[in-house]
Amino acid sequence: MAVQQNKVSKSRRNNRRAHDALVAANPNECPNCGELKRPHHVCGACGHYADREVVAMADEVDLEDDAA
Ligand SMILES: [Zn+2]
Repeated sequence: MAVQQNKVSKSRRNNRRAHDALVAANPNECPNCGELKRPHHVCGACGHYADREVVAMADEVDLEDDAA
């Protein structure tokens, strides 16, 4: 097991943790459907990016049809 050579002071520990805070997400509104989406990412609701549909979305999955 690794053993630290020197005690880390409260000040040094807290200074290290000063940059550990989480930042809130900053979502944008999708220009196509109005859903909130991550900036510079394809919209998860409609599959559009920059006014183009880049991911085709299935209308609805019918579980009854798959039962064979
Ligand atoms: Zn969208």
